[in-house]
Amino acid sequence: MDKQLEEKLAKKGVYFTHLVKELVTTLVKANKPLSVDDVLIIFSKKKFFPYKTSLYRQLSRLAKLDIVEESVFSGIKHYCFVFEEDHHHHFECDECGYVEKISAKNCDDFVSKISRKIKKKGHKTTSHSFVLKGLCSKCA
Ligand SMILES: [Zn+2]
Ligand SMILES: [Zn+2]
Ligand SMILES: [Zn+2]
Repeated sequence: MDKQLEEKLAKKGVYFTHLVKELVTTLVKANKPLSVDDVLIIFSKKKFFPYKTSLYRQLSRLAKLDIVEESVFSGIKHYCFVFEEDHHHHFECDECGYVEKISAKNCDDFVSKISRKIKKKGHKTTSHSFVLKGLCSKCA
């Protein structure tokens, strides 16, 4: 795992166990959101078999530190590494449930327009997530 990244994450309060290192490395590599089962399959190929509950615990800790983003696809929680990554949205296939990260650096204008409308009602926005739905290249 990248030393610089490890130091930055440690400063944010991440305590690096073997599991956390493997988890962060796996999420950084994936260019799509991963469920806990996806992560376990990747780990098992490396002959690493942590408890599912420890995985959930670490993922929710990383989510609280804004290092990992949690979103639900096909009724299952999925996780993306978001720390210092370019902002992204998601594309989801209606047919097979395939999900991909779509880089979305320039969505600020659009978002601030909507945020202003929400603010007028007295609400406050802190983050957003967009899912673009359709058919993936295999299903289309
Ligand atoms: Zn994501
Ligand atoms: Zn599909
Ligand atoms: Zn956005």
